[in-house]
Amino acid sequence: MHHIRTVSSNLLTPAMNRRCALLGTLGLLALPATHVAAAGPAKSKRPHPDVWPHASQVPGGVARLSLGPSARRPAAFAGDLPLLVLGDAIEWTALVGIPLAAVPGDASIVVRPEGGNERQINYAVSPKQYREQRLTVPPRTVDLSPEDEARYERERAHLATVMATFTDLRPDASLQMRVPAPGRRSSSFGLRRVFNGQSRNPHSGMDIAAGTGTPVLAPLPGRVIDTGDYFFNGGTVWLDHGGGLLTMYCHLSRIDVKVGDVLKTGEQLAAVGATGRVTGPHLHWSVMLNRAMVDPALFIRA
Ligand SMILES: [Zn+2]
Repeated sequence: MHHIRTVSSNLLTPAMNRRCALLGTLGLLALPATHVAAAGPAKSKRPHPDVWPHASQVPGGVARLSLGPSARRPAAFAGDLPLLVLGDAIEWTALVGIPLAAVPGDASIVVRPEGGNERQINYAVSPKQYREQRLTVPPRTVDLSPEDEARYERERAHLATVMATFTDLRPDASLQMRVPAPGRRSSSFGLRRVFNGQSRNPHSGMDIAAGTGTPVLAPLPGRVIDTGDYFFNGGTVWLDHGGGLLTMYCHLSRIDVKVGDVLKTGEQLAAVGATGRVTGPHLHWSVMLNRAMVDPALFIRA
C-alpha cells in the first residue's frame, strides 16, 4: 500500500520537526471541537469520553456504527474487507477505519448476520482539512536509485500480506491503548507533504519524541506478526490485536520479539531508534483498522 512509503518523517530537519511539534499542540487543542463535528447531525451529544476508539467520521478517523441486537456476532464488511465488530447480544458495533484517501460524502458497510438477511448501513464521511507542508530538498533525496526502488517494491509486496491479517478478536477486548513510549506526541497524523512540488502520501501515524533505547511497550495484548528492517521505516514491528486491528512501530534501534510471540499490555517489544529514513530518534506509531491507517490519538487518553 502506498501510504507505507511515507510513514517515516524522513527528510525533515530538526527545525521542521520543532515546527510540527508546535502545530501538534494546536491540533490537540482543537480536538474536542473536531469530535463534536465528527458526531454528525444524527448525534447531537458528545461521544462518551470513555468509548475507545473515539468516533471521528473523517478521512483517517473511525466510524462506530450500531448493528443492533442479535444472538451471535454479525459479520460486517466495507467492500470485501472484514470489519471489527464489538459488543454483545444486546448491541453490536462495527468499527470502520476510514482511509486518509477517502472522499468525503456518503459511505456504507454491509452486515451479514448469521442466518439472516444481508443489509446495508449508511454513514457520512465529513471533510477534514489536514495541514500541508511544502519542502524544497535536493532532488537526490526525493528520487530513489533503481536499487532502492526495487527494494522498496519488494517490501511493499511483503507488507501487503502482513496488512491483510485478520484474526478473531479476543472476547474481553477493550480497545483503549496504552501509549507505547513516553515522550512528546506529535499530532502530525494526516499531514500532507509536498517535496519539490511532488505530493507524497500523508503522514499516517503518530511520532513520539524519545531517545534511542527508550523501551517500546505493547499498547494492548497482541501477537507479533512481522519484524524487519525496511528501507523507509527502518527496524519495524507489527502487532495483531484481532479483528483487523494492527499496530506498527518504526525506526527501532533494537527488536526484542519474534514473529509468533504473544504480548500482554505493557510488555516491551523493542527500543526507540533512528533507523530507516529519519533525521533523528523517535518512535513512529501507526494504527490500522480494516487496512486503513487511522489516527492513534483516537485510541488513547489525551
Ligand atoms: Zn512518523
